[in-house]
Amino acid sequence: METNTAKSRVITNYKGTELHAKGWIQEAALRMLMNNLDQEVAERPEDLVVYGGIGKAARNWEAYDAIVKSLLELENDETLLIQSGKPVAVFKSHKDAPRVLLANSNLVPAWANWEHFHELDKKGLMMYGQMTAGSWIYIGTQGIVQGTYETFAELARQEFGGSLKHTITLTAGLGGMGGAQPLAVTMNEGVCLAIDVDETRIDRRIETAYLDVKTSNLEEAINLAQEAKIAGKPLSIGLIGNAAELMPIMIEKGFNPDVLTDQTSAHDPLNGYVPIGFSLEEAASLRKEDPSNYVKLSKQSMAIHVKAMLTMQQKGAITFDYGNNIRQVAKDEGVENAFDFPGFVPAYIRPLFCEGKGPFRWAALSGDPEDIRKIDEVLLREFKDDEHLCKWVRMAQEKISFQGLPARICWLGYGDRARLGKIINDLVASGEVSAPIVIGRDHLDAGSVASPNRETEGMKDGSDAVSDWPILNAMINAVGGASWVSLHHGGGVGMGYSQHSGMVIVADGTKDAEVRLQRVLTTDPGMGVVRHADAGYELAIKTAKEKGIKMPMLKQ
Ligand code: NAD
Repeated sequence: METNTAKSRVITNYKGTELHAKGWIQEAALRMLMNNLDQEVAERPEDLVVYGGIGKAARNWEAYDAIVKSLLELENDETLLIQSGKPVAVFKSHKDAPRVLLANSNLVPAWANWEHFHELDKKGLMMYGQMTAGSWIYIGTQGIVQGTYETFAELARQEFGGSLKHTITLTAGLGGMGGAQPLAVTMNEGVCLAIDVDETRIDRRIETAYLDVKTSNLEEAINLAQEAKIAGKPLSIGLIGNAAELMPIMIEKGFNPDVLTDQTSAHDPLNGYVPIGFSLEEAASLRKEDPSNYVKLSKQSMAIHVKAMLTMQQKGAITFDYGNNIRQVAKDEGVENAFDFPGFVPAYIRPLFCEGKGPFRWAALSGDPEDIRKIDEVLLREFKDDEHLCKWVRMAQEKISFQGLPARICWLGYGDRARLGKIINDLVASGEVSAPIVIGRDHLDAGSVASPNRETEGMKDGSDAVSDWPILNAMINAVGGASWVSLHHGGGVGMGYSQHSGMVIVADGTKDAEVRLQRVLTTDPGMGVVRHADAGYELAIKTAKEKGIKMPMLKQ
């Protein structure tokens, strides 16, 4: 609960090379916190909401101000502790220790549900940190776009000979992350029909060039999609409306997509999903006046939504869950076969995790896009043999507009992350890049998440629900000297369904940073390789052996 709502508050981030804090690591945490709440970046900055339902960067405005003050005053041998978005202590540590440690939304397992979370949230004792919202490394929709691109590229390889040309992908949810879907589909040469109940979200995607056109007319949307499909022309169409309402009508009309998924914020039935028959305003007032009825209606609508997905799947659509837990809600509502379509990780992403690959990213603290361009240029030269990577970087340069601090996402794996970390640190040291660079990743990474309905769904050895891994990941990254490390619960799929950790490390051009970068950018993706090798994945075992990762019980 916010003690100071400050509705009209606008955060203006620091830019340039001038230091306001007592060191670049503190300055980086400050600028990344502010970046998360930048008007261009956050979905609802006035409520401190960054993305993903109610994923917040700080518990309330009072806590935000206290975090800013603490970071400005923090010494180079101190560590600030954040408990669910509130700064609770500053302890003396040492220069190589993380400057900030964050624990967000964690609940003892028997209490780990939305009901208990909301009670605590109302009392002002908790905050939902999602993944990169509460750990200050969200970089706008770009942060998800490569993962979404890779998912659709792999689907295209498996199902359509390598391209989505002449196919229609139907999805819903054009929020902070879901908004990447239309661009990822058109980058794969396909047609995307994306439903969102909130027209302002659709407009935002058009403004930032993630989406091409919009309509509120179902007929028109279908016609546009079908014409583009026949012509083999990439096109993305935003359709204003409720997915659970429109999809059954599509079925009645005989429309069936080639590919089908969903990215409404179904993980949070109270704040992330709009039930059938409600305008946004009506939904907002019911949410306030009768939250339990809202949740009931919301879950019923999700069951209808999933049933429509299952029908379209039976009619031939390649269907997958996109990490929002909608299958679980539908199953709890009595849709017995809700898990008939797979999650996107086991279907398309796991082989990347086996090599320690995941949504790695860096942001230019200077605010100067030239710094990112410079790193792109060196990356294209140094990694020129990696065609897939170079293709991605060129496409990103052309198609992705920055939100807030300029940033680049790049799915690099074990070995390559440490290599690039050194390259970036050298560029900062030589002054070719104008200010330090922040390097981090999503929690949805190779070895940093336990989420049985998503990242760890259907693990080979059945270890889906084992959450020792993200905890080990956070601990080894803290020991290695990451700049800030976080441990969260409930991101992506909601309370009770995930535990995950984040890490961010600053390349400030110093020798100390070089040593820390080498350590952390090795252990972090290393945890991904180890987690999957331990579960018996051949590719991970091969990677561990080839790269010389020491695993005491791995059979030689
Ligand atoms: P968001 O809250 O910013 O956006 C959700 C969107 O869904 C909103 O625009 C909302 O208007 C729309 N919506 C809600 N109910 C609807 C309905 N009935 N019909 C049509 N539209 C509706 O969330 P986000 O950041 O875009 O994330 C979306 C979901 O994806 C979350 O559950 C998130 O946890 C999950 N997720 C996916 C990935 C991934 O890799 N794909 C990663 C992390 C999380």
